[in-house]
Amino acid sequence: MALKPREAVPIAAKGYWLPSAGIPYLDEFPDFPEEIEIGSYTIETEAVLASNGTAVDKFRYIIGRVAKLPKGFPVEKLIIADEMAIIAIARGQTYGEVYQFSATCPSCGHQSIVSCRVPEELPVKRWDRNNRPPMSVTLPVSKDVIVTRMLRIDDEVRTSKWLNSIKSLNPNQPQDTISYIRDKALQIVSVNGGVADTVEEAEEYLRILPGPDMIALQEHLTNSACGIRYEYTITCEKCAHVFERVFPIQNDFFRRNRPGWANANIGDARPAPGTPENGGTTGAARESRPVGPVPGTNPAG
Ligand SMILES: [Zn+2]
Repeated sequence: MALKPREAVPIAAKGYWLPSAGIPYLDEFPDFPEEIEIGSYTIETEAVLASNGTAVDKFRYIIGRVAKLPKGFPVEKLIIADEMAIIAIARGQTYGEVYQFSATCPSCGHQSIVSCRVPEELPVKRWDRNNRPPMSVTLPVSKDVIVTRMLRIDDEVRTSKWLNSIKSLNPNQPQDTISYIRDKALQIVSVNGGVADTVEEAEEYLRILPGPDMIALQEHLTNSACGIRYEYTITCEKCAHVFERVFPIQNDFFRRNRPGWANANIGDARPAPGTPENGGTTGAARESRPVGPVPGTNPAG
């Protein structure tokens, strides 16, 4: 008996809103839809998750498999906020929407297991095509006008390679610091209409920004960003203290909550999209970045 070959199964043939509403892609792809179809993982996806590749490569691959993007659209051009939303929705379609994590009450130390529906129970900040977010800011001291953008997958791929090359040259250099500045520099499209020739030039510009200008830029990046905020409000079951926990997207986010399935491995966790830690933008994960809670962005409105 032969198994009948099947077409790729459209498990979720319904539209999902991308946090960006497709706005960053409209210049090159005017027909980019506001919502796209997102399916579930397959056994092939699980095999990729269990492999030894980098998190960046695994995500990129999975997006190409689970998301129906317009013909010819390069996955690398997706902003990371959209990428992470697709990953979260596909995960929900595969393993169910409930994600469990443990949280320790800061008041009494009680540790409880929290169940959260992802992404339904998380705040999502979406852009609106009819009310586009201002992607520019005038700095208070220098009066410079900076046009910004959100980080894309290709930024993350390049930065990841760049960090690896630095790591091999100088293992003691603190990578978080340099990737932090690099992420900001990549988001600068222009300053007073001028475009930096290299990302290093943008980095130099950032290094000499006066404090109030730096803060204004940070706030602008945070407030203008779209994406899922991986933050959940918890009421302690022991002392009723209410606190917020930001959960990192780490290995167990991508595997079934089932004993005997412990191989899914995305590499190190990445911070949630849109966190102040990475400039309130999209959260380019670095393979070297430690696992840990990160603060979330301000929700929309
Ligand atoms: Zn408590």
